[in-house]
Amino acid sequence: MPAFHHPQSDTLWSYASGSLDEASSVLVATHLALCPECRAEVARMEALGGEMLEDVGMAAVSASSLDDIMARLDSPALVKAIPQVEKIPANDSVLPSPLRDYVGSGVGAVAWRKLTKGVEYFDLPVRAEGHRARLLKIASGTRVPSHGHGGEEITMVLAGGYTDEFGSYERGDVATADVTQVHQPVADAGEPCICLTVTRGALIPSAIFSLTSRVFRRLSA
Ligand SMILES: [Zn+2]
Repeated sequence: MPAFHHPQSDTLWSYASGSLDEASSVLVATHLALCPECRAEVARMEALGGEMLEDVGMAAVSASSLDDIMARLDSPALVKAIPQVEKIPANDSVLPSPLRDYVGSGVGAVAWRKLTKGVEYFDLPVRAEGHRARLLKIASGTRVPSHGHGGEEITMVLAGGYTDEFGSYERGDVATADVTQVHQPVADAGEPCICLTVTRGALIPSAIFSLTSRVFRRLSA
């Protein structure tokens, strides 16, 4: 079943052009493994980007920016290849291969750590400064504490599902929350909800968040 919720267009553009940070690139590559629609969209963007580069011509590329481009191409940090349709091995039906490479194992062997009651986490070894990529395992029916965001948070569901103020999300679905949104995800009944979240900036508990956003609104009024 195709995913219902997808990464935002500017995120796909950044991915297609190779300028997306490592943590978000892992999430997008994982989504592409499950979403033919976004795979086609990224392929279209890449073709368009290639045409634009040809139009500009290599003469316009300065020596230093060429160095930047070559360094970026060499960087193992970037998950740049568009994954083919995922063939899931019988022993792991949860983690598509771009993500499994980062986790270093199937979901059964993940070294989960306790975050709070009913919620476990595993941090992916990404090097993007100021970004965090984290697997979360939320027991069915668990309410994650209500929180706002100091920066953007992108979440993709890998197993089970959850519902918050903005909708319901199942395997392959992506939700993007910005600094204005406070939400309280609740894991669906049934199996645990396993998801990948990428955050830029800290999470802020909603009590503090509403206070700071009130102050911010007052300051910017
Ligand atoms: Zn998609």
